[in-house]
Amino acid sequence: MDEGTVALRDALSAVVRGEVRFGFHDRMLYATDASLYQQRPVGVVVARDEEDVRRAVEVCDAFGAAVLPRGGGTSLAGQCTNSAVVIDTSAHMRGVGEIDVQGKTLYAQSGAALDEINNELSRRGVKLFYAPDPATTAQATVGGTIGNNASGSRSIKYGRTVDSVVSIDAVTSAGERVRLQRGAGRAEGRMGALALKLADGVMGVVKRYERLIRERYPKTLRRNAGYALDMILQQMEKGVGAGELDLVPLVCGSEGTLAVVTGARLRLFDVPRVKGLGLVSFAGVDEAIEKVRGILTTGPSAVELVDDVVIEAALKNIECAGYVRAFADVEGKSPTAVLYVEYHCGGEDELKESFEKLRAVVGGAPLRVVKDAAGMADAWKLRKAGEPLLHGLPGARKPLTFVEDNAVPVENLGRFVREFRKIVEREGTRAAFWAHASVGVLHVRPMLDPRDDGDRAALLRIAVEVADLARECGGVMSGEHGDGKVRGPLLERFYGAELMKAFAEVKGLFDPKGLLNPGNIVSPGAVETILQGTRLEPEGVKKGVEVGEVKTFYEYSADEGFEHAVERCNGAGVCRKQSGGTMCPSYRGTLDERHSTRGRGNALRLAITGQLSAGGVNSVERWRDAETMKTLDLCLSCKACKSECPSNVDIAKLKAEYTAQGYMAAGKVPMNKALIGYVRVLNRVGAVMPGVANWVNGTRLMRAVINRVMGMHPRRSMPRFSASLYRVWGKEEGRKVGAGRVVLFGDCFSAYNESRIGLAAKKVLKGLGWSLELPRTGCCGRSMISVGMLEQAIATADATIEQLRGVIEDDGVKAIVFLEPSCLSAVKDDWLTLKCRSSLALRQKLASKAMLVEEFVERFWNEHPSSETAAGMVARGKMGKGSVVLHAHCHQKALWGAESSAAILRRVVGARLKVLSSGCCGMAGSFGYDRDKFELSMRIAGLKGDGVEPGGGVMPLIAREVAASGEGAVTVLATGTSCRHQIHDAAEMGVGGVNAADVAGAVHPVEFLAGLVVD
Ligand SMILES: Cc1cc2nc3c(=O)[nH]c(=O)nc-3n(C[C@H](O)[C@H](O)[C@H](O)COP(=O)(O)OP(=O)(O)OC[C@H]3O[C@@H](n4cnc5c(N)ncnc54)[C@H](O)[C@@H]3O)c2cc1C
Ligand code: SF4
Ligand code: SF4
Repeated sequence: MDEGTVALRDALSAVVRGEVRFGFHDRMLYATDASLYQQRPVGVVVARDEEDVRRAVEVCDAFGAAVLPRGGGTSLAGQCTNSAVVIDTSAHMRGVGEIDVQGKTLYAQSGAALDEINNELSRRGVKLFYAPDPATTAQATVGGTIGNNASGSRSIKYGRTVDSVVSIDAVTSAGERVRLQRGAGRAEGRMGALALKLADGVMGVVKRYERLIRERYPKTLRRNAGYALDMILQQMEKGVGAGELDLVPLVCGSEGTLAVVTGARLRLFDVPRVKGLGLVSFAGVDEAIEKVRGILTTGPSAVELVDDVVIEAALKNIECAGYVRAFADVEGKSPTAVLYVEYHCGGEDELKESFEKLRAVVGGAPLRVVKDAAGMADAWKLRKAGEPLLHGLPGARKPLTFVEDNAVPVENLGRFVREFRKIVEREGTRAAFWAHASVGVLHVRPMLDPRDDGDRAALLRIAVEVADLARECGGVMSGEHGDGKVRGPLLERFYGAELMKAFAEVKGLFDPKGLLNPGNIVSPGAVETILQGTRLEPEGVKKGVEVGEVKTFYEYSADEGFEHAVERCNGAGVCRKQSGGTMCPSYRGTLDERHSTRGRGNALRLAITGQLSAGGVNSVERWRDAETMKTLDLCLSCKACKSECPSNVDIAKLKAEYTAQGYMAAGKVPMNKALIGYVRVLNRVGAVMPGVANWVNGTRLMRAVINRVMGMHPRRSMPRFSASLYRVWGKEEGRKVGAGRVVLFGDCFSAYNESRIGLAAKKVLKGLGWSLELPRTGCCGRSMISVGMLEQAIATADATIEQLRGVIEDDGVKAIVFLEPSCLSAVKDDWLTLKCRSSLALRQKLASKAMLVEEFVERFWNEHPSSETAAGMVARGKMGKGSVVLHAHCHQKALWGAESSAAILRRVVGARLKVLSSGCCGMAGSFGYDRDKFELSMRIAGLKGDGVEPGGGVMPLIAREVAASGEGAVTVLATGTSCRHQIHDAAEMGVGGVNAADVAGAVHPVEFLAGLVVD
C-alpha cells in the first residue's frame, strides 16, 4: 500500500464504526461479481448504518478516492467491480421497517435482500408483496436492485424496480444526505434545497438534449442502458416542475454512479388470490414467438420462453428430463419450444376465463394447465435451470455472459432471434434463447472458450453485431442487467456522442469529481476493453491466469479437470441466501462475504492460481497463504454447497485439497490437526477403560490441558468414552434368514464412544430376522479428510478397503450398514474421487452396498420374515405420545436426503414424525469444539431462519415442536454424533429457547427403533 492509501485507510478507520478492510486478501474477495471481470478494490468498508456510509463517502471525497456501492454483488455486466473503496451495505444494513398496510408501502435499508422483505411481510401476516423478481431474489439487495433497476419474469404485470420505489434515501458523492421522491424539491431544509438543485440541473440537461432523447431512446418495454433521461422527459411533458420532479427513475439503473442508496420506501402489491400456469408446446421457436403478442392480450403475469437448446440439455439431466416429459407433446414428440404463460388473478372465475382466452389465442398448440403450487414450482425449475444446464455441457466452450439481455419490441422478436442465430452460427458456435418473451428480453449466452484467442475475437464481433442488430430491430442491448464493463463500451454506438455528453452532465450534477463507480455509464472504455480486466486476464497478471502443474490428492475428471473445479464459482451468490436448504451455515451465522461459499471459492481460485502470493503460480507458497486459510477456517465442510450451489462448487473438497497441498509444502501436519485426524486412535485408547478415561477427562486439570493442547472451548462438553463395541458385541445370535449377510461398519464413534447405538442396531435387525456382523474394518478417514490430511486419509481408506475386500466382493453380503452419516459420506462420496490405490470398481461396489442402517431396515422391511416384531414396532410406535422430531446430518441431506432416515421412522410412528427443516446444527465434527468457533457454532444452532422456508437453526425448530407438542415430551432424533452432541450442549445453554428439561438430549434413530422392539 502506498502512503496515500494508508492515510485513506486510517482516515476511514477513524470515523467508520463498521469494519474497514484494506488487506490484500480482503480486497480481492470483493474484486469480482457474477460477471467476467475482476478488478482489485482500493479497500472495503462494511458499513454499520447510514451514518457510516455518509462518513465513508465524505472521507473518500476528501481523498479524491473512488467509491463503489455494493449489495449482493450479483451483477452480470461488471458494474460491481472497480478500483474503488467498496461500501458493502449487505452485512448490517438489512433492516425492514414499519409497514404501511393502508398505503401499501414499507421502508427497507439498502442491504435487505428481496426475499427477506417478502418473508417479513408473510411473518407479519400482511397479504402484500414486493414485486421486483430478478432470478436472484434470495441474495439481491434493495440497493443493488435499485442500482440495476432489476426486474424479472413478472415485469409485464408489476413493472421494474423503478415502478416499485416511492422514495430513495441516499448519500451524494460529497457525503450529503438526500431524499429523492416526487415533490422532494419542496421539502424544507438542506435536503429539500439539494433535491431542488439536482432536479433543476437534470431538467436543464434534458431540455438541452430533448430532441436526441426523443430520437435515440428505444420504445421498448424494457431499457437498462444509459440513464433514464426519457423518464425525466416524460415527467416534464406532463408539466412537472423542479420542485415536484421525481429523480427516483434516474437513480434506478444508475449502477452506483450517482449516489449511494441507504434505504428506500417501497411500493407493495396485493398477493394474488389464485395463480395458474399454462405450458404451451411448440414444434419450433419461431412458432412460439409468433404467438407472444396474442398471448399478451390475455393479461398474463409472465410469458417466458425455453428453446430447443435448453430442452435438449434438460433431457440429458435426470431431474430436468422429468420436467420436459411433463410438457404436452407436439404430434407425439417432445416440444422444441415452450411458452410459460402465468396468470395472477383475483379469483377462480378470472383464472378460468384467462385460460380460455389463452386457448383461443394459441390455436391448436398443445397446452398443459398447472394450478397446484408444487406442479407450478416444478415447471418453473426447468425455466430457471437454463443457465446451469448449459454450463453443465461438456467442453471448454461455456455459455458466456455478454449479450444476454437485449430488449426488442415483441413484434420484432422473431426476426431478432433468427438474425442472432445466424451471427452466432457464423462464428461456428451456438447459443440458447430463453426467458422474458413478454417484454422482448431473451437471455442468450453464446458458447465460447474465454481462453481461446479465436473465441475471444469472436466474442467482440458478436457483441458489436448483436448490439447493432438490437438497434435495427428497434431495441437496445440492455433490457435488464445493465451496462457495466461489458456493454458500457457500446453505449456511444447506440446513443451517439451527444447523448454520452448528456450522461456526463447528469453525473456531474450528482458527482462533480467523478468518484462514484467511475468508468460505468459515463466515460466507459473503447470496445476492445470489453475483453480487458477479466478474471482470466486481470490487471497485474501478464500471461493469463492458470493453475499450473498440481499433483492433486483428489480426482477431478467429473469437473473437466482441476482448473475447472477451481474456476467453477461464477459469483451468482446463491450461497448468500438466508433460508432454504443448508448452504452456507457460516455465512448465515456471520453475514460476511468472506465466510460465504463464494468468498471461499474466490479465495481458493485466487490462491491456487498464484494471485495471492508473491511467487505466483509456480511457488509452493500459494498453498500456504495464511489469509486464505483464515477464509477457509469457518467452513464447516458440510457439503451443502456440493448439492445446493447451482454450479456444484464443492468447497469441502477444495478446502481439503488446498490444506493437504499446504501440509505437503510445509512437510508436516500441525499437532492439533493430527490429534483430530487420528481421533480413532484416541477413542480406542479411551475405550479400554472408559470409566477411568471419562473421570480423567472430567478433572479440571485434564480439561485445562485438553483445552490448551487441542484448542477446545471450555463450555463445550467432552465426548464420553464407552466400552468398545467389539468387546460388548457378543456372539452372533440372530437367525441368518432372508437373502444375504449384513455387515456393520464400526465407525470411530459408535465403536468407542456410543457402543449402545451399535447394540441398538443389532437388536433391531435381530428382531426383524437379520443377523448383523461386526468385522474389524478400520476407519473411513473422515476425521482426516476434515482437517485436510488427505495423504493419511488415502492410506487409511486403502487399508480399510483391503480389510473389507471380502465383504465387498462377496455377493452374499447384502449391505454394509453405517450408523454415522459422515462416515458413510466418506465412503460413498470422498473415496470415489480420492486417488486411492484400490481400484475404482471395488470402491464403487462398496459404495453401492453401503447405506445407513435406517435405510436398510426400510428398504428390506418387506423381505424379513418376522412380521410379529414389525407389527409390534408399528403398534408401539403409533401409540406413543408426543412428537418424534428428526434432525438429519448435513452430509446426509446433501448427498442422499433426510428421507434415508425418515422413511422407516414414518412407517413406524406415522404422523408423529416431524422432519425438521433445519440447516446445519453448527457442530460439524471438530468445528464446534474449537475455542474460536464455539460461539459461531452456537449461533448457527440458534439461527432463527425466516419461519417460511427450511434452513433455520436446529434449536429454534426443536423449541417450536416442544411448544406445539402439547402433551408428552418431544423425542429428538439426530443421525450424526456431532449433531447429538450439539443439541445436548445447546439445550444446556438454552440456545433457541430450548431447555435441557424439555429435551433430554437427542438419540440416534436406531436407538429409538430399538426401544420399540420387545426382547
Ligand atoms: C444467475 C443470475 C440471474 C440474474 N437474473 C436477473 C434478472 O432476472 N433480472 C435482473 O434484473 N437482474 C438479474 N441478475 C442481475 C442481478 O442479480 C440483479 O440485477 C440484482 O438486482 C443485483 O442486486 P445486488 O444486490 O446483487 O447488486 P450489486 O451487484 O451489488 O450491485 C448492482 C449495482 O448497483 C450498485 N449498488 C449496489 N448497492 C448500491 C447502493 N446501496 N447504492 C447505490 N448503488 C448500489 C452497484 O454499484 C452496482 O452497480 C441476475 C444475476 C445472476 C447472477
Ligand atoms: S459458490 Fe456457487 S452459489 Fe456461491 S457464488 Fe459461487 S457459484 Fe454461486
Ligand atoms: S461446505 Fe458448507 S460451510 Fe463450507 S462453504 Fe460449503 S456450504 Fe459453506
